[in-house]
Amino acid sequence: MNIRTQLTFRYIGIVLFVLLAMYFYLATVLKDSMSSHITRELEVQATLTREFLTEKLPSKDNFTYDLIDPLVDRLGKTNNARVTFIDVDGIVWGDTELDGQALRAMDNHLTRPEVQDVIKKGIGIRDRYSDTTQTDFRYFALPIYHNVGAEISPNREGTLIGICRVALPMEAVNTAIGNLRRIALIASVAGLILTIVFSAFSTGAITKPIQKLTQMTQSLAAGNINSRVPVDSRNELGQLSQNFNQMADRIQEQIDEISEEHRRSATILTNMGEGVLLVNGASEITYANPTAISMLTLPEAYMGKALIEINRIPELQALLKKAAETETIAFAEIQLGNLREPEAEVTVVPVSAGQEYVIVIHDVTKERQLERIRADFVANVSHELRTPLTTIRGYAETLLSENSVRTKTGEQFIVKILNHSARLTRLVSDLLELSRLELGEVELKRAPCHLNTFYEPLLDVFEPLLEESGLVLKWQIPEKLQKVNVDQRLFMQVFVNLIDNALKYTPDGGEITVSAEICSRKETEESNAVSDEIIVSVADTGIGIPMESRPRVFERFYRVDEGRSREMGGTGLGLAIVKHIVLSHNGRVWLESTLGQGSIFYVAVPL
Ligand code: ADP
Repeated sequence: MNIRTQLTFRYIGIVLFVLLAMYFYLATVLKDSMSSHITRELEVQATLTREFLTEKLPSKDNFTYDLIDPLVDRLGKTNNARVTFIDVDGIVWGDTELDGQALRAMDNHLTRPEVQDVIKKGIGIRDRYSDTTQTDFRYFALPIYHNVGAEISPNREGTLIGICRVALPMEAVNTAIGNLRRIALIASVAGLILTIVFSAFSTGAITKPIQKLTQMTQSLAAGNINSRVPVDSRNELGQLSQNFNQMADRIQEQIDEISEEHRRSATILTNMGEGVLLVNGASEITYANPTAISMLTLPEAYMGKALIEINRIPELQALLKKAAETETIAFAEIQLGNLREPEAEVTVVPVSAGQEYVIVIHDVTKERQLERIRADFVANVSHELRTPLTTIRGYAETLLSENSVRTKTGEQFIVKILNHSARLTRLVSDLLELSRLELGEVELKRAPCHLNTFYEPLLDVFEPLLEESGLVLKWQIPEKLQKVNVDQRLFMQVFVNLIDNALKYTPDGGEITVSAEICSRKETEESNAVSDEIIVSVADTGIGIPMESRPRVFERFYRVDEGRSREMGGTGLGLAIVKHIVLSHNGRVWLESTLGQGSIFYVAVPL
């Protein structure tokens, strides 16, 4: 049942109740008032009749029908009521309804209740059925006295000679009530019809806005965001409609914003150079941008397919697994193709608590190719330069040893040639070493060894230099330290480069300390897995490295003070080589330095 029907029924109920109450109330009140009106009427008529009869009636012994009945009939006619005269013995001497023989044959009326009431109380009022006239009457009876003696007068006013009785038919009262009931009924029906019409209009006024609101909300729920309700009143319903419209406006604005945002993201994702994939917890693809589709050569129906089904790249699966297990970003360089290409940097980012993963694929094939070309070029050039350099050095050395060209200037020139060719040779061999490391052409020959095995060979290289500069090399690696699994030739290079730098950048009389220790290290920031590594440090008491240069000293050809470095015979490649060697051992390099006080270079290699 809708609200309109409910309201209409309630209206009708209330009106019906009021009308019924009024109807019954009016009927009762009218009946009472009519009844008392009749009684008053009868009282007046009875009093007048008594007056008249008291005056006109002869003494009791002289009563005759012929005398009394016409008197009574006259009274009845003028009063328009039934008048009866009964003597104290109950004989009816006159009655407006009967005449002649019928009057004479009337019952003795002494037992009539109103007559008895008069005798006992001086007045008699009764409603009852008249056997004589066969109708309902209200009787009003009063005593009639003759003021001759006072033998039988109950109130000692005179001699009671009879009773006068006036009666009116009750039919009038009943008819009046019936009429009233009819009128009330008609009024009720009319009221009811009016109520129905009125409630139909008034409830319509209330329910129409509600219906419109309902339709609007249904339409909104169905996705028609443009639907609004007309606001045509200022009452609460109008306010409600307005609020609904504002709410719909706000929703529309937000949807527009989200759509715009979505459109923008879609444009970015479609046009970006990186491949972006979304997979759910079960590794099923939920989104792939065009770049990802072409990079992974996804089939047309890739949606909802498991990544492993479509693309069998174990490294990608392993990366996804790693991200799922650690619940952190996982990164790896992966070859997506069968041969070397395409090479890609793949990042897996877990989102919404492992329920979804974003896979970003950055194709680095071209960069890697360029890097290879550059490294190849450097390696080739270095290689090509080595032979002529050796020849130049050979000839210069021969010239220097021969007495024939020995002039002062000649000798100086040859020494310069030798020095520069030595520097060039160092540079070329450093470049070649670095290129080979970068190209991955250097094969690691790992073997477990104790770090102390490096001490003697290092001393062989640096002893003369140490003596010359008065520097002290403190070798503080404990004998009981675990062995490390490294390529000895390359690790020797690491030590040589670091100690060589310490020597170059530490003033005479300083100290170089080499130490090592084993440390446990968390594999990633978030995971709790730990692994042991050996950390070797080379500390000096030298000039130190300025803050801004610290992050750059491992770059090739980066030098804090170019002139000084060159003067010292540096190539600017030493630390770059160190870094590459350590990285090829899956290790790390970093440094600490205080300007003017010294630097500490750290090399960490997993055990
Ligand atoms: P170089 O052959 O010039 O020494 P490196 O790659 O070995 O090249 O070092 C790069 C630069 O880092 C050096 O030029 C120097 O400025 C700085 N450097 C390296 N080691 C030290 C050190 N122990 N103390 C101060 N500066 C250093």
